Amino acid sequence: MIRDCCKPSCAWSSSSITSPVKTCDKSDNTLADANAQSGCAGGTAYMCGDQSPWAISDDLAYGFAAVSASAPNCCACYQLTFTSTVLSGKKMVVQATNTGSDVASTQFDLAIPGGGFGIYDACTSEWGATSAVWGAQYGGPSTNTCSQFPTALQPGCDFRWGWMQGADNPSVDWESVRRYATPPGPASSGSNTVIYATVTAAALGGGGYYYYQRTRPESHAPPSSAEQNTVPSNPSASASFPQKAFQGSDQGFIDLKLESVEEINHNTKKFRFALPNADDVSGLQIASALLTKYKGPEMEKPVIRPYTPTSDEDETGYIDFVIKKYPNGPMSEHLHNMKEGQRLDFKGPIPKYPWEANKHDHIALIAGGTGITPMYQLARAIFKNPADKTNVTLVFGNISEADILLKRELEDLENTYPQRFRAFYLLDKPPEGWAGGKGFISKDLLKTVLPEPKEKNVKVFVCGPPGLYKAVSGAKKSPADQGELTGILKELGYSQEQVYKF
Ligand SMILES: Cc1cc2nc3c(=O)[nH]c(=O)nc-3n(C[C@H](O)[C@H](O)[C@H](O)COP(=O)(O)OP(=O)(O)OC[C@H]3O[C@@H](n4cnc5c(N)ncnc54)[C@H](O)[C@@H]3O)c2cc1C
Repeated sequence: MIRDCCKPSCAWSSSSITSPVKTCDKSDNTLADANAQSGCAGGTAYMCGDQSPWAISDDLAYGFAAVSASAPNCCACYQLTFTSTVLSGKKMVVQATNTGSDVASTQFDLAIPGGGFGIYDACTSEWGATSAVWGAQYGGPSTNTCSQFPTALQPGCDFRWGWMQGADNPSVDWESVRRYATPPGPASSGSNTVIYATVTAAALGGGGYYYYQRTRPESHAPPSSAEQNTVPSNPSASASFPQKAFQGSDQGFIDLKLESVEEINHNTKKFRFALPNADDVSGLQIASALLTKYKGPEMEKPVIRPYTPTSDEDETGYIDFVIKKYPNGPMSEHLHNMKEGQRLDFKGPIPKYPWEANKHDHIALIAGGTGITPMYQLARAIFKNPADKTNVTLVFGNISEADILLKRELEDLENTYPQRFRAFYLLDKPPEGWAGGKGFISKDLLKTVLPEPKEKNVKVFVCGPPGLYKAVSGAKKSPADQGELTGILKELGYSQEQVYKF
């Protein structure tokens, strides 16, 4: 249970969120701008007071929840059946309006006023929250202090002590449900998957009908947005394990349809390709990439280039890439000219550095430009796994501030794991007042921020443009040959075995 009062993650407008969750200003008035900065980052947007749970009957309630950031599925709805504590047997239907990097894929964090204001705490700036009334950072007050809460939050706060009877961290079975404007026909009940639930709840818009969809027994991750929006023609068929779209070995190239394109900056776009089936996962392991192939009408031979997806490996139905356009670069130009509905050949996975939890105590990621994508894949996998305690230091160089890709995702990791994830940004052309580093990645900087080579079990990963490899580690000879370690890392005393070039 938590309510940090920050703008919910699903309140940002994007290609995958066409109808963002509404946000409110400090006076709890709805904001018109879906891209207003979050109160947690010094902005004006907060979670609205009415995004609180409410009881329909003694056994049924509605609310809002945060789901895992690794499988965000914004705005999807779930029916939770409580299986422990005094709540056993009661049901709650929640809508995913928020995500959290620290929320496990088997967890629903119910948004309940007075459920603890977590690490970000916008409640103090929005409502003047004090620990005397709002209680512990995690879990909130241990007794009912709701009468001292702001009026707008009192009903939601009372819900915890009324309908929920003060229950703490109940476990639940859950099913995803779909909201329809018209009845969908016969419902199929899902298999039950017991999950651990903490609380943070919120409200569902409108009425409608709910269609109970199967859950996937092997994966507790919520289904993709693609699944939400379509009724399976054969519901029983979708109860199987998710298939891997990319199976490696002899599979060869498969063509994927470009589903959507989002402009990230002046030369970079995010591409979403649909996997062959809505239930498929990509099949990529950490760390790995995919090959793309394209042969234009004037080209003698096809061009083949590797790319690292930025979407989570558990995501079903689609795969995302963040790709920069290089002048006269045949593949990146082709991608940037592609229109939604067109198809591109992909093959893989192409295994890179095989990761397993706690393989190293501390890793350093040195990235330039789009070299961040394999680094993000690795960091995302580490922080998504509660058993993985690896410390991560990122050094990320770019030309200008607009070129810093995946900045929000990286900041999210930094804010959620401040003890374990540290990031240093450098710009060739910094704006006025830039607080990060200036110029290229230098020996002095790396000496200061990187774990020392003699530190136990350190590994350094490098990915970026040719100039960065040359200066930092020396170039790779070929995909299969890492080449000799030279450059700054060699001078600082790292061994060949301590460095991996993507
Ligand atoms: C494992 C791996 C993963 C990759 N993942 C991504 C990704 O997620 N997103 C992405 O945008 N790119 C990624 N790349 C780079 C990508 O594979 C292509 O090299 C890039 O898109 C350029 O291809 P092109 O055919 O358009 O141009 P090319 O003809 O290959 O190159 C055109 C010009 O751009 C320069 N150039 C090529 N690549 C780079 C670079 N990385 N930095 C600076 N200059 C460069 C070349 O020297 C040349 O002058 C990855 C590369 C590797 C090895």
